[in-house]
Amino acid sequence: MALIVQKYGGTSVGTPERIKVVAERIKRYVDKGDQVVVVVSAMSGETNRLLTLSQALSSQPDPREIDVLLSTGEQVTIALLALALQDLKVDARSYLGSQVKILTDDAHGKARIKAIDGQAILSDLNGGKVAVVAGFQGVDHAGNITTLGRGGSDTTAVALAAALSADECQIYTDVDGVYTTDPRVVDCARRLERITFEEMLEMASLGSKVLQIRAVEFAGKYQVPLRVLSSFEEGPGTLISIDDDTDMEAPLVAGIAFNRDEARVVIRGVPDTPGVAYKVLGPVSEANIEVDVIVQNVAADGSTDLTYTVHRNELERAQEITERIAQELGAREVAVDGSICKVSLVGVGMRSHAGIASQMFKALADVGINIDLITTSEIKISVVIEEKYMELAVRALHTAFGLDQTDQQAS
Ligand code: ASP
Ligand code: MG
Repeated sequence: MALIVQKYGGTSVGTPERIKVVAERIKRYVDKGDQVVVVVSAMSGETNRLLTLSQALSSQPDPREIDVLLSTGEQVTIALLALALQDLKVDARSYLGSQVKILTDDAHGKARIKAIDGQAILSDLNGGKVAVVAGFQGVDHAGNITTLGRGGSDTTAVALAAALSADECQIYTDVDGVYTTDPRVVDCARRLERITFEEMLEMASLGSKVLQIRAVEFAGKYQVPLRVLSSFEEGPGTLISIDDDTDMEAPLVAGIAFNRDEARVVIRGVPDTPGVAYKVLGPVSEANIEVDVIVQNVAADGSTDLTYTVHRNELERAQEITERIAQELGAREVAVDGSICKVSLVGVGMRSHAGIASQMFKALADVGINIDLITTSEIKISVVIEEKYMELAVRALHTAFGLDQTDQQAS
């Protein structure tokens, strides 16, 4: 017998038929003797629909009222799923965040969970009931409804799993797991049996958006084993868990992440004196522009170049700010490029293996791709290249590091 938290996203509960399929799956776990807590999102499209309604009535909506509004989406699905379970003779009971209760801070629209009272749910489980909990919502100390930010039901599920010491937190979605890279770019991308929290964070933040990043961080911190699986077909999915050093078979490279929408700003000929990097990048971060890669060249003749990348949407603002600074500093010029991308190899196995970087550079050279910038961390090597070569780069690396799905694995 295991205690399992299952989370179903919007598409998995998007129609009455799908809710029925979800209820049938839950019943199979219950019949096996497992204790099940279910967290659901709103029906697909519902949260956006509610937001649009609010926009028709208010240009500067009160965040408190937006949370009251958006939290209704999940109130619908918990009730419908509880009804569907009861129809299958599975004893079930629904809970709003405030009924559990999931206590958060008062930051409407991006509230953080402070504490979860698991008592009511545990007594349900011990009485043979399934608890169906509304994702994405909580309540602050004053009793106001709060929401956790878009995609927040993942975080609800992980936080509940941590609070209840669940054996596993299963996230059911419309893909059957985490892949070595985006299957839309590489058609022989392979589903990973397992991946570590650290790797998943790198993959997720670089665009392989299967799970809310906050949920993965939370799961890593509380060491809740997380499994991503499909709600449409049976299969083992991908297990996200802690780094297991004893696993000799662990691959060097878990996957390849990429980020299309990057842009680069170079400021040339800035004086090589203390405080220059701060003078250039301080105003950029003060303007709330997130900087990704930063590279400063070795100085020659008392001056140097500084390069940084930002999201493409922020390029114009970053350029403006940097041109202003360039004048103040007497820099030679500011040059920008709005058509670059970043491709990264991710894998905890890289920590203990040298030579991966050069293998990566060779693979790119073999297909004639020029590398613009390189950055590395313990478990990641990233290159910035021209955007038009992104798919070629991802495919070349996928093959070079043995990630391609073979026919044997496919069957
Ligand atoms: N319904 C919310 C959203 O669409 C929360 C979630 O689905 O996780 O963002
Ligand atoms: Mg979601």
